Amino acid sequence: MKIVVVGSVAFDNVETPFGKVENVLGGSATFFSVAASFFAPVSVVAVVGQDFPASELEFLRSRGIDTEGIEIAAGRTFRWTGRYHEDMNLRDTLDLQLNVFADFQPKVPRSYREAEICFLSTIHPGLQKSVLGQLGKPRLVGADTMTHWIQQTRGELEALLADVEVLTVNDEEARLLSGERNVVHAARKILALGPKSVLIKRGEYGVLHFSSDSIFAVPAFPLEQVFDPTGAGDAFAGGFIGSLAKSGDFAAPSVRRAIVYGSVMASFAVEDFSLNRLRALDGDDVERRYRQFVALTEF
Ligand code: AMP
Repeated sequence: MKIVVVGSVAFDNVETPFGKVENVLGGSATFFSVAASFFAPVSVVAVVGQDFPASELEFLRSRGIDTEGIEIAAGRTFRWTGRYHEDMNLRDTLDLQLNVFADFQPKVPRSYREAEICFLSTIHPGLQKSVLGQLGKPRLVGADTMTHWIQQTRGELEALLADVEVLTVNDEEARLLSGERNVVHAARKILALGPKSVLIKRGEYGVLHFSSDSIFAVPAFPLEQVFDPTGAGDAFAGGFIGSLAKSGDFAAPSVRRAIVYGSVMASFAVEDFSLNRLRALDGDDVERRYRQFVALTEF
């Protein structure tokens, strides 16, 4: 099944306890699409500025990603600056420059419109809604968001949630969205806003999947070193949605397998800065780690 994703394509400045990088490739749609491209065809809707290197678009195309929907607009590419604490589950956004995203009017190419799966990765919920409105009738709609959008655009975000089947949030976002500290209470309140299921990402503690009648938990892969958590959530979503697209099956066992594939892709994303680890990966690496994951959780 074909996936359409909308989100940010960005330049990031990132500081972690292990080092610092500037002007590296980032963005929610970038991490998502590269991770998903290991499983299924992905088409991206986004905007970049004239400062965005052709070589990075070429990299996306080399992964089989359709970039027709990435508009090149006058101005500068979206920029995000973040710093992680010693406890890398915590980070501060130091700077956020919307740049070309400030005036972006997404135009979904005709060739994308019949995609069966749509993923609305982190961006203004108004833009997420606009992309959804231009698609035919996707069989599955997933969405992600961030504290910035929950705080600044709550009304638009809540309006969007009525059209979303699966929402992915981290535990801080789940608390902010629901007003509940306890993760189970938070999930129940989020489900009441519309999504049929919610995936709560808990950094090094793994992920919890809640639907009206079940809870499923997967740990994070125990790595010796986490270098840069940026993009882990988007890579998780890419592996999760990619696996569902590959199987074409949205029943519970397939959803559980997809959650493990999402966790596999997130574990690779954090092993290096930016998309460096994902760039060097092949399908055998993905399958090997999937098998290690199964062994890790079997009893
Ligand atoms: P994650 O670590 O999965 O939350 O994703 C981090 C990526 O999201 C970075 O590469 C940033 O470029 C991008 N990003 C950060 N803040 C925002 C925002 N408010 N809207 C859209 N994308 C963002």
